[in-house]
Parts: sequence; structure tokens; C-alpha cells
Amino acid sequence: MIQNLEKSAHNTFVGRGLEREHNRRKDAGWLADKMKDETSFFIPVRQSKVLVGEGEVPAPVFFSPAQFLVHKKTDSALFLGEAEGRAYFAVVLEEKEFESFKGFGGFKDLRAIAPLLSQEEGAILAYAQALSYWHTRNRFCGLCGAPNQIGEGGHCLTCSNAQCGALRFPRTDPAIIVLIRHGEKCLLGRQQIWPPGMYSVLAGFVEPGESIEAAVAREIFEEAGVGVKNIRYHSSQPWPFPCSLMLGFTADAENDSITLGDEELEDARWFSRSELRQAVEARAVKLPTPVSISYRLIEEWLKDGSE
Ligand SMILES: [Zn+2]
Repeated sequence: MIQNLEKSAHNTFVGRGLEREHNRRKDAGWLADKMKDETSFFIPVRQSKVLVGEGEVPAPVFFSPAQFLVHKKTDSALFLGEAEGRAYFAVVLEEKEFESFKGFGGFKDLRAIAPLLSQEEGAILAYAQALSYWHTRNRFCGLCGAPNQIGEGGHCLTCSNAQCGALRFPRTDPAIIVLIRHGEKCLLGRQQIWPPGMYSVLAGFVEPGESIEAAVAREIFEEAGVGVKNIRYHSSQPWPFPCSLMLGFTADAENDSITLGDEELEDARWFSRSELRQAVEARAVKLPTPVSISYRLIEEWLKDGSE
């Protein structure tokens, strides 16, 4: 397990330095002090995009309380945690509030700017984006429809209807992503909506009542008609697009025949290492973004052998 923790630590958006302060964030007085503390940072989040300065080297824009309060109140700020004594908060912006932040840069897709960020910056922004998304989708109680109220710095929501009082906690969607081998080849597929030529490892969501291993076997069979064995966990990656936790695996195919099944893939193929390297070099095949666990699974497989 330690080995897997180490592997996950190298995945983009996985942080190490932030202490989430599970107990202290329940203390409203402590949180209020942190919101006023001049060393604290506020991170505005707009529809799952983060604010990036447009200097020579793009960098995320973090605000002190005084700087932030000029633009927006901080009473609905979501507490992320503390690193080296500095507290980090995310703030969900409403549609009309974007304009006020225009002078600081642009709101960008985190996947696009992640290669330019440090590991810790990427991790904090991914966390800010994931928690913000959950809040924007849970403004009202799913049982009675009354507005929800933020508690524990954003780590719980309580229904404001006293008769109901339902509690909710942030959710993340587990998804499996699998590099399938057959001998010296690996299975990559493409979805129609992807950029031309892009191929990647197969993935899918874990369904209710299902183990992650069963999800691996089901998804690969549904998408490519391939039975798998020797399913091995590799590592995990928070993937807040919008709210997934990617669980990376490797597995061996029982045979190499492919039958495209559930219409998710428009093509799936077996590649040897040399075929894949040549296709990428010739730009006939494009691999997923280097910040994804899918890229890492493919990259490790390429380095594994020489065929
Ligand atoms: Zn309710």
C-alpha cells in the first residue's frame, strides 16, 4: 500500500502539503479568524475554472482577505485547509461577479494550465474546483427542496427546513481507468467527441452496488468486448472535471478479439510499443494530456519493455 501511496503522489492534482483540519473546521470562531487573517488566501472559482494571471509565466491568482473583500464577501467561503500556517479558501462566483475579477487575468480550464503549476498549486486548485462544483449543484435539499446552509467551512450542508434538517457531505464519483495488456500489446480506444487521432486507455464510472474490480471487468467488456484477468491497482488521481476520483488499474486481456459494444468508443485497437511510438511521432495518434493518469499508465507501459 505504501508503494501505491508513493505512486499516487506523482499524479498531477495529488497534494501533500495541505492539512485539512477536520476537527478545527467545525469551530466557527476559528474559521472566522482565519477568514480575517491577512496571511490567508482566497481562490475564486468560476464554473469549474480558476483565475490565472496573464503575466509572462501564467500563475494562479490567490487573494488576501483585504484584496478579496473589495470584490466579494467571504461569508460563503469554503475552507480547504492550511499549509505552513496559511489557510486556503475557495469562493464560488455567481454569473454576475466574474466581471469584477477581469483585471486580474482570465478564468482557465485547470487541465490546460496544470503543466505550468507546481504540484501543490495544482492540488489546491483541483480541490477548490471539486468542492466548489459540489456546492453549485447542491444549493437546495434533495428531500424537501428548502435551501441548504453551509457548515464546517463547506464540508457539510444542512437543510434549512427545521422539520427536515437533512445533512449532506461532499461527494466524489469513483471512476476506473485501465491499461489492458495482451502479450506485448496494449488496448487503446477513442471516443467520437475526442480531438482527431486521440487514443487513450479505457475508463468508466463505478456503479452503485459494485466493487471497483467488478467495474473494471464490466466496463472493459461493455466497451470493447474484452474479458480481463490479473486486475491490479496502480494509483489514483483526483479529477475534478467535474468531480471524479480516477482509480488506475492494469489488467491482462483473456484474448485479443475486440467487439465494440456500448457505442461509447468509435474505435479500439491493440498497439505494440513500437507501433504506438511511431504513430505518435508521425502524429497519426495523439495521447491524452500528460497531466492525466491515463497518460501516466501509457507512459509506464511504454517504458516497461522494448517491443
Ligand atoms: Zn430538507
